[in-house]
Amino acid sequence: MNHPLRCRCGTLKGYVSHPERVSRGVCYCKDCQAFAHFLGKTGDILDEMGGTDVIATLPKYLTFTQGFEALACMSLTEKGMLRWYARCCNTPIGNTPGDFRFSFVGLVHTCLEDPSRTLESSFGPVRMRVNTRNAKGRPKSMPISTVASVLRFSISLVHARLDGSYKRTPFFAPDRGTPVISPKVLTSSERDRVMNAV
Ligand SMILES: [Zn+2]
Ligand SMILES: [Zn+2]
Repeated sequence: MNHPLRCRCGTLKGYVSHPERVSRGVCYCKDCQAFAHFLGKTGDILDEMGGTDVIATLPKYLTFTQGFEALACMSLTEKGMLRWYARCCNTPIGNTPGDFRFSFVGLVHTCLEDPSRTLESSFGPVRMRVNTRNAKGRPKSMPISTVASVLRFSISLVHARLDGSYKRTPFFAPDRGTPVISPKVLTSSERDRVMNAV
């Protein structure tokens, strides 16, 4: 069953297919925290230790159905991850590598919240916690199942690259591989402001 995706104000909508094929993790890195500060939505995005709950999947499983014109893209640095969000209400959507051949999107939980179901029921429990050294506290360590989960997901990435299905993505033009919206790269002073807020 598809899991709905929606920005907070409801302008941008879509869905995630194959929710059973994702890997779910929490990232505590400074860049993810800085992105939450950039959006001015730390309370909606970050947990009490500064973690972002992320659903990692293949971009081909993501479909936007309305409000695509609200999609915006930023990057903290010239070669950084592309961070996609809905500019109508600053809801984060997800993070992708700049090179679309790395077929990956880490969807931010904020756009996946739904009154009729929990993240757990669609995507399963958090299976990995990464960049914990940047956490504000000590996150629980993860059981060995983490390794299996990461491995399974990495195999699907390689597969998407080999079979060419990385070209099915809402974020990049399939022929040239350029982002559908040119990313706003922060200036050094803008970056300092959000990094210092972390
Ligand atoms: Zn919105
Ligand atoms: Zn991160």
